[in-house]
Amino acid sequence: MSTHHRVIIIGSGPAGLTAAIYAARANLAPFVIEGEPSSTSDQPGGQLMLTTDVENFPGFPEGIMGPELMMRFRDQAARFGATFLTGKATKVEFGEKPLKVHVRDEIFTADSVIISTGAQSLMLGLEAEERLIGRGLSTCATCDGFFFRGKEIAVVGGGDSAIEEASFLTKFASKVTLIHRRDSFRASKIMQDRALSNPKIEMLWNTAVTEIVGKDQLESISLKNTVTGEESSMAVAGLFIAIGHRPNTDVFKGVIDMEDSGYLITRPDSTYTNIEGVFACGDVKDHVYRQAITAAGSGCMAAIDTERWLEQQH
Ligand code: NAP
Repeated sequence: MSTHHRVIIIGSGPAGLTAAIYAARANLAPFVIEGEPSSTSDQPGGQLMLTTDVENFPGFPEGIMGPELMMRFRDQAARFGATFLTGKATKVEFGEKPLKVHVRDEIFTADSVIISTGAQSLMLGLEAEERLIGRGLSTCATCDGFFFRGKEIAVVGGGDSAIEEASFLTKFASKVTLIHRRDSFRASKIMQDRALSNPKIEMLWNTAVTEIVGKDQLESISLKNTVTGEESSMAVAGLFIAIGHRPNTDVFKGVIDMEDSGYLITRPDSTYTNIEGVFACGDVKDHVYRQAITAAGSGCMAAIDTERWLEQQH
């Protein structure tokens, strides 16, 4: 049944659920369209559902499992009156009021909308990726580097992210092999120099990862030389995939101002988009920090911006 809401929140990662907690406590009864459980990009709870231990979220000195943390966010939002719909926004109509959000053949209307659909790490598309993420396979050095103290690990990619991750990981790992499919970096010169002069980083040029091996824990990777075709195997305790990110913004194309890379544009130091009454927070607008805590912070900002904007309308 289609319903009208003061605020609809699209996405239920740390940004969306923090926005839901704040909006609920402001008596706005937020309606959260939380995503599709079967999807690896828009799953309820966001990217933390794909991780295991989270040790950098303040307030959990012993660490907490990513899915449990998100369940706690959700319970907290529900306690104050947020309601949830499991599903994915398939179309939005923001040309006139009320704002409309379609979830397949249902249309929900709202006075305001908070977009927190997040981003996804690009993956190699290998069979074991989903099974081993958080079990030796990672897409976030800041989050998981600590688990690889004294171990030999590898990073895939040739852009700034890959070099930044590889350099950061040398603080923990005994050796970092940077695997790139070509023989030159895409990264900026200063970052390249940083990687090439780091004694703990070893380059493996012209190499593709063709298989990730391990049942419950990553054990090794299969490699193929992209020039000679030669195949080999490498034992690694950890593999970090750093080949870029993609914001989940397909549904907003042509509706909300976005960068060429698809990240939504918000007014500086706020969560206002170019559409009146539509706000954006979290990784869908942040390609710099990408942390659960920064996403949560911007979710709080979005709820406060929304509450104040709604007040001004009446
Ligand atoms: P990126 O610049 O798009 O680089 C992606 C890298 O991954 C490329 O080297 C690419 O190889 C490789 N790659 C892509 N798909 C692959 C696949 N399927 N298999 C193997 N390798 C694959 O992405 P990014 O490094 O995440 O950077 C994104 C943006 O953020 C850039 O503008 C970057 O400058 C910026 N950034 C800046 C900083 C900083 O300044 N500190 C840090 C991080 C990111 P090819 O080169 O062969 O295409």
